Amino acid sequence: MRELYADIIIDISYQKLDRTFQYHVPENLRDKLETGMCVSVPFGNGNTKRKGYVVGLGDACKFDPARTKDIIGIVAGDVSVENQMTALAGYIHHNFGGTMIQALKTVLPAKKSVKKLEYRQIERLMGKEEIISLLGECERKHQRAKARLLTELVEQEQLPYQWITGKLGVSPAAIRSLEQAGALRVVSTEGYRNPVRILAEADSGKELSESQRYIVEQIGRELEEEKTGVYLIHGVTGSGKTEVYLQLIQKVIAQGRQAIVLIPEIALTYQTLLRFYQRFGDRVSVMNSTLSAGERFDQCERAKNGEIDVIIGPRSALFVPFPRLGLIVMDEEQEGSYKSESTPRYHARDVALKAAELSGASVVLGSATPSVDAYYHAKNGEYRLFSLKDRINGGELPKVYTVDLRQELQEGNRSIFSRKLTELLSDRLEKGQQSMLFLNRRGYAGFVSCRACGLVMKCPHCDVSLAEHKGGKLICHYCGYEIIKPSNCPKCGSRYLMGFKAGTQQIEEKLKEIFPDVRTLRMDGDTTKTKDSYEQILSAFANGEADVLIGTQMIVKGHDFPNVTLVGVLAADLSLGANDYRSGERTFQLLTQAVGRAGRGKLPGEAVIQTYQPEHYAVTFAAAQDYEGFYEEEILYRELSGYPPVAHILGVVVSGKTQEAVKQLAKRLADVVKSMEEPNSVMGPAPANIGKVNDVFRFVFYIKHKDYGQLVRAKDILEAKLQEWQPKWETVQFDFDPMSTL
Ligand code: ADP
Ligand code: ZN
Ligand code: ZN
Repeated sequence: MRELYADIIIDISYQKLDRTFQYHVPENLRDKLETGMCVSVPFGNGNTKRKGYVVGLGDACKFDPARTKDIIGIVAGDVSVENQMTALAGYIHHNFGGTMIQALKTVLPAKKSVKKLEYRQIERLMGKEEIISLLGECERKHQRAKARLLTELVEQEQLPYQWITGKLGVSPAAIRSLEQAGALRVVSTEGYRNPVRILAEADSGKELSESQRYIVEQIGRELEEEKTGVYLIHGVTGSGKTEVYLQLIQKVIAQGRQAIVLIPEIALTYQTLLRFYQRFGDRVSVMNSTLSAGERFDQCERAKNGEIDVIIGPRSALFVPFPRLGLIVMDEEQEGSYKSESTPRYHARDVALKAAELSGASVVLGSATPSVDAYYHAKNGEYRLFSLKDRINGGELPKVYTVDLRQELQEGNRSIFSRKLTELLSDRLEKGQQSMLFLNRRGYAGFVSCRACGLVMKCPHCDVSLAEHKGGKLICHYCGYEIIKPSNCPKCGSRYLMGFKAGTQQIEEKLKEIFPDVRTLRMDGDTTKTKDSYEQILSAFANGEADVLIGTQMIVKGHDFPNVTLVGVLAADLSLGANDYRSGERTFQLLTQAVGRAGRGKLPGEAVIQTYQPEHYAVTFAAAQDYEGFYEEEILYRELSGYPPVAHILGVVVSGKTQEAVKQLAKRLADVVKSMEEPNSVMGPAPANIGKVNDVFRFVFYIKHKDYGQLVRAKDILEAKLQEWQPKWETVQFDFDPMSTL
């Protein structure tokens, strides 16, 4: 039997985080030891006994086996938050790649603002008359700074210290001098920063509907018994999921435990926060990307000290160190933003499950269109599945028309608007009702299809769309397969084989050609550059300032618009053609969400889906609002092609300054994987999806395997090789089960 070695970090004093020490795992611990465990080890020359955390396990000894010390034992019962966070970092490091220090930086808040924030203010001690006479004196003496401050103090009794020394340009010495003259005093208060203050009317909870009550009772009972579980709530938007979360959190708080609520940043609206504040008052706080490092740190301190019970935020909120975490809620678990886009590229769902396991908490996942991953685990019995079928406030699902764009072309309509969509738009304009036009450009990567027969040019090996490149080449971004773009459609021979170029701006222009008086609002990357523009456009539309809102996938989220009775999806094909295995899933989600936007109020809604592939299952099941049907079809495809969640994929991205060197390193690394004992299937290397950014060339290859652990081993072997080769200019990144082509 091979020996087992453990990488251990000693202590978690911040300076030493980047160093791990290797120890030998003695016989009696072999089967018990896991990453994240707290162990005691002999340390240093004197072999003093120290606590350490296991962050990795493997059979390769990095030093002299004879001189590698043995672990003494497992430290039982260490459930401190620090221990859990370190263990979580170990888990991230092990499963998603990157260095241990990167993983620790991900889970631990920046430590720089350890001191509590000091609020300093100055208070006026003299009466108005006295201040004015002192001001006159200073002016005579040409003491301009003092005069400026006194001028302010004539009207104000209190002023923030920072503003005086900053904006007003008055030196601390001048302030001191006035203090000595008895004109003012400096007072300071200490406190943590609470980034959001919402004055909300209290709301203790709604009378639950029958299906809501069933879920709250089922999960609630297990929470009360402190049993842990993972639950998936499948319920359309407006079916009352958030109310279920709120009531479950109330139960957890009543037990003296705490909760983390993950919400994608884009859905973190004022309305959502308000509901949490109404329920939990100032026992709840928010974490988001606009917080400074200091504010983040403060949130963590407040959580540790028991000042708050609930934190809401995007994926980073997972790392708020609650002493007794009871529940993690992950709303809209299918959202792509839950996956980190920089190393370590972890997925918040996996990390949430691990964090819950470490702290004895439960996890509730919620979604209107669950990810294929989550649903697969629910079907396999790993998660318990609940569903909320109806909207709380009633409302019929919209009537959906699928328009075949091939037929439109055949019958002579070359416009981006089908006849059905034009007819319904005109009807809504007449009635003064609102419409939304949706261009699902997400994941769009220059695929090529036939306008006459709908054929999409695909890779024969990977069953994903080919992407069009300069010079008329079509390339597969998984395996590198490459052909010259044919001038005629290989299936029907037509000349209409081309890429898709329409943008939101063009749609707005065309719309105005047909309806000159139409009032439009546009929402896309260009119109939402500033921080508040997203909310501003949505509220302008809600206030009826436009008849039609045109936008990218951004418009399918958030706000309800009761006056919207028509939704048009201009080209479902745009997301279907994305050149990765998730394109069907993403399309189904986008179409379902888009269609669901019509008819939220009292008026019934209609939706038009335009597509060149009306028979594609993602389109037909979205039109029928049939999740189950979609899932069955999709999982079959994943099984046949060996894609996640049935199997796993590891993307290895090599980047560097010269194309040849990058390509060579990618090749050498791919060869290392190919020669591993356990056979893997390797795709590529191929130029990355965005092959060159800022003069950095990128090549990628993918490793597929049924067993995630085998991919982790491949990553470890590649990392060891890189240690050995020490490439000077090239860097390598790992992405497990990537959300899109790299
Ligand atoms: P989801 O999170 O699934 O979109 P919400 O929990 O936000 O659904 O519920 C939709 C709307 O219905 C909200 O305005 C909410 O306040 C209201 N609501 C939820 N549950 C109830 C209930 N049991 N009784 C009355 N109104 C409810
Ligand atoms: Zn064709
Ligand atoms: Zn391919």
